[in-house]
Amino acid sequence: MSGRQDDGRADGGGEQHGTRVLVLNSGSSSVKYQLVEMADESRPAAGVVERIGERGGVADHAQALRTVAERLDAEGLGLDSPRLAAVGHRVVHGGTRFTEPTLITDEVLAEIRALVPLAPLHNPANITGIEVARRLRPDLPQVAVFDTAFHATIPEAAARYAIDAATAERYGIRRYGFHGTSHAYVSQATAALLGRDPADVNVIVLHLGNGASASAVRGGVCVDTSMGLTPLEGLVMGTRSGDVDPGVVFHLARVAGMGTDDIDTLLNKKSGLLGLCGANDMREIGRRMAEGDADARLAFDVYVHRLRRYVGAFTAVLGRVDAVAFTAGVGENSAAVREAAMSGLQGLGITLDSVANAVRAPGARLVSAPSSRVAVAVVPTDEELAIARDTYALARG
Ligand code: ADP
Repeated sequence: MSGRQDDGRADGGGEQHGTRVLVLNSGSSSVKYQLVEMADESRPAAGVVERIGERGGVADHAQALRTVAERLDAEGLGLDSPRLAAVGHRVVHGGTRFTEPTLITDEVLAEIRALVPLAPLHNPANITGIEVARRLRPDLPQVAVFDTAFHATIPEAAARYAIDAATAERYGIRRYGFHGTSHAYVSQATAALLGRDPADVNVIVLHLGNGASASAVRGGVCVDTSMGLTPLEGLVMGTRSGDVDPGVVFHLARVAGMGTDDIDTLLNKKSGLLGLCGANDMREIGRRMAEGDADARLAFDVYVHRLRRYVGAFTAVLGRVDAVAFTAGVGENSAAVREAAMSGLQGLGITLDSVANAVRAPGARLVSAPSSRVAVAVVPTDEELAIARDTYALARG
């Protein structure tokens, strides 16, 4: 990094008041970053470094973070800028230990490291991101925002698996849930769209991206979610199976002779939409369905069937539902998925407005008929903004 500074003033060496937060999302093979100006929540910079550890990509996470720093530097928005107030890190697994955004100290970092067995694919990348960012700016507050935190309020009846209690306790086996930052943000934004206090609103949030999860939020508090010990459970996803009978695993081991890692790869990387029809992008599936492709049709139908099951289940969990909110890549963009998922649910008080649903528009909007007792909404998620807000709040004290 060069010593170059942007046009932010350092108040002649006096106290510095940074108003920008760098949000880092270090995944297994990519680092996404956004610089958020908290004064107006604009994004002076954003990008992604992909293919970490792959041919044609950067060598490792340390290199990826240096690339991020160089790119920001080149735009005059360097990590050394006095305008930077803090760095916010998305951390996938907070276990039962972390239920709030947390200022990172050596001790906190050690505790995040102790959670690696619960998230072996995710937490190590998050940890590397934290270590490198702390080395680059040891003076800055750095905050961990956990994907699991919003789900910490799920009652035991919904969080516990019905397995031997001592074994579950010993190995931390329970429902943690993920995408929590998105579920929290979208449930609040849905209440805002309805012009109501989040404390009075019950929402089913359907986060449908490459990974997908549903959550039941009662008065702003999460009471159930579809993902479990890991992000494998629940809805059909791009490459993940979601719910399967655990007996499938034993069957594959005993009858197909597959090892643990092979089965892990099968269920996490070669299943879901990809496993069913060879494509994991809903746009391609839509194109192929239009051409009469039967496999694509089946993949779509399995995806939608699972979604409807969860809407029904979470309606029962909540008792009263005020809104169903669709978010993330598929939820925000696929009118076809929303239409199929919400059709024939008048019995649950859900009536879609097919015309409004088919309109492409930015921003949060209603797509239900005026007569619908349950509002159906499309609510763009913004996990980076949510992380930046949490980070800034903690950094400012
Ligand atoms: P991630 O989980 O990686 O953050 P996103 O929330 O960006 O993913 O969702 C990515 C997925 O969204 C893509 O794989 C694709 O299936 C879907 N998607 C994106 N745009 C559209 C669109 N216009 N129509 C249908 N699906 C879309």
